[in-house]
Amino acid sequence: MIYFDNASTTKICESSLKYINEFSVNNFYNPSSIYKQGADNKKEIDAVKSIIAKTLGVEFKDNIIFTGSATEANNIAIQGSIKKNFGKLLFTEGEHPSVYNTASYLKNKGFNVEFIKLNKNGEADFDDFAKQITENTSFISVMHVNNETGAINNLDKFIELKKNICPNAIFHSDGVQAFGKLKYALNNDIDLYSISAHKIYGPKGIGALYIKNKNKINPIIFGGGQEYNLRSGTENIASITGFKGAVEEISYNSDNVKAIRDYVIKNLEGDFKINGNGSPYILSISYKGINGETIVHMLEENNILISRGSACSGSKVGNRILSSMGLPNDYVKGSIRLSFSKNNTIEEAKIVTQKLNECVSKLKGM
Ligand code: PLP
Repeated sequence: MIYFDNASTTKICESSLKYINEFSVNNFYNPSSIYKQGADNKKEIDAVKSIIAKTLGVEFKDNIIFTGSATEANNIAIQGSIKKNFGKLLFTEGEHPSVYNTASYLKNKGFNVEFIKLNKNGEADFDDFAKQITENTSFISVMHVNNETGAINNLDKFIELKKNICPNAIFHSDGVQAFGKLKYALNNDIDLYSISAHKIYGPKGIGALYIKNKNKINPIIFGGGQEYNLRSGTENIASITGFKGAVEEISYNSDNVKAIRDYVIKNLEGDFKINGNGSPYILSISYKGINGETIVHMLEENNILISRGSACSGSKVGNRILSSMGLPNDYVKGSIRLSFSKNNTIEEAKIVTQKLNECVSKLKGM
């Protein structure tokens, strides 16, 4: 089987599994327990946070919390930031549903929520951002790498303008598809940054949120007060150490995924457009006049797994993000996403490209 759906999730690595096993069986103790075994696990959690902080290019100062997913991290970042008399909230139209749907929920509740358009490359449109940002803006969320197109937003540029116009606004970024793949040291003016383990060969069900200043955030769930009272619930020591295993294996060498992506693009046939051209890990292709879902299932019959867009919008015919980029409707329907991992090979790329070309030519002839 060939797996080209790594933006959806990745296969767990050996080093994650080793830690998960160790901290599920031998060191399973509750990190909040006051005996030594519990205290040791608490120390281990802080050690993992330090490793993550280093990877984010920041110093660890009790400024990272673990969550049950990046979805949860995004929800805490947004909903936890809201205060009475909050000003405008700005989000991009490219956001993952965990941000976009939270923003829509707040808009329905009466908050002043606006969305920044995307340009034809899938990046948040800077001119539109400049038009919409005001002195009254309280919260800005710009994702780092788009999960459907791989488009990369230049966060530093957005932050520069924010600093001039509304220096006290909170700046959040969803870093899920960037972390561990795109080498980037967090800009000192990023307040909140969300990440997830399962996109980088770690376990599912564990995310983290970097929080520059904990005083600016309120909890959205209440309980035993774990994670500086910002994310109650017994710490998932096994998955946290599993996250560590994945982070320890990060290498920013993307030569093999670049070669795979380039090979596929060069050898594709038919009437298609490539959407976005940022992250080498993601390739979004839109064919004219054929159905992307049919392609996904035809490839599946050939033991090749890809997706339509994000896994979360897998079964929907429309595509909010591609439409926002201005892609015509007859291409939107024919969209698929190939996403790569360090384990994929050029031989796999050759097989997938050949099968893809065959499927497209069959569907065109129908
Ligand atoms: N943000 C982005 C950009 C993603 O790609 C994903 C996963 O698809 C998420 C957030 C949600 O991550 P999780 O599965 O950890 O909730």
